[in-house]
Amino acid sequence: MYIIRDNSELLAATLAEKRAGRSIGVVPTMGYLHAGHMSLVEACRKACDFVIVTDFVNPTQFGPNEDFDVYPRDEAHDLALCAKAGADLVFLPSSEGLYPNGAKSTWLEVGYMGQIYCGVTRPGHFSGVVSVVAKLIHLCRADFAFFGEKDYQQLAVVRRMVEDLCIPCEIVGLPTVRESDGLAMSSRNTKLSADARLEARVLYAALMAVKAAFDDGCRDSKELLWIADTEIMRAPSAEIQYIALADPVSLEALTDTLPDSVQMLMAVKIGGVRLIDNLRLEVI
Ligand code: AMP
Repeated sequence: MYIIRDNSELLAATLAEKRAGRSIGVVPTMGYLHAGHMSLVEACRKACDFVIVTDFVNPTQFGPNEDFDVYPRDEAHDLALCAKAGADLVFLPSSEGLYPNGAKSTWLEVGYMGQIYCGVTRPGHFSGVVSVVAKLIHLCRADFAFFGEKDYQQLAVVRRMVEDLCIPCEIVGLPTVRESDGLAMSSRNTKLSADARLEARVLYAALMAVKAAFDDGCRDSKELLWIADTEIMRAPSAEIQYIALADPVSLEALTDTLPDSVQMLMAVKIGGVRLIDNLRLEVI
């Protein structure tokens, strides 16, 4: 497995793969890898000839008062997991390498889809995400890029960016990997105290309660949001940032009577740790 930190070395390696006629897949991550990330690497391994994992805590997607400095990092652990999963190359760039012009760099701007939901409490977050994802797709010369539905808004925003900028890379979305009690796996779960970890089960409970009502025929958005709210507020430390019922592609909020396919999205702080989750509600 190649371990590369330098842009020009990566470009040389990916050019060689392209010239050999091999398909290239990339799995962009911020490291501290867990089974959720590895499900993306495994899917990439199945679909592509050459598998690249990028491991970079991207500073431009963190706000000034967010957890960039204390975001968990463990390079040795990440490399061991990538080798085990059969990755061909891990790219570990530096901030200077990806942002050689610092604050004077060129940025991508995200429209409406980046300003709603997580974009409200994290202004500029999605601009940072798509700016780095575009660079990584180009450096990897990726035919395919793999993302988790766990970060559903991010997946939708990246799909829109690739379409809007005519980037010839297929975006593949994969299901959320969960702990046995339903909590979505996340690098940030390690920050939950023992009590908060127990409380965090309300997110999945809320998704399941809403799904049960939707499957029973309820299409009243207010009623479904009330069900979710009630479940979440069972956790004493819960602070709801948003709970939304949205169009799965445009992410526009759906009100009143719901259609047959709806994405439920939420961000909730539990014990001071911000958690996100989502679920598709669908008539099958
Ligand atoms: P992160 O390192 O948190 O930026 O995540 C890197 C990629 O892994 C993103 O596409 C995430 O959506 C995906 N991911 C993170 N957690 C999970 C999970 N529990 N299940 C599936 N994919 C995930």
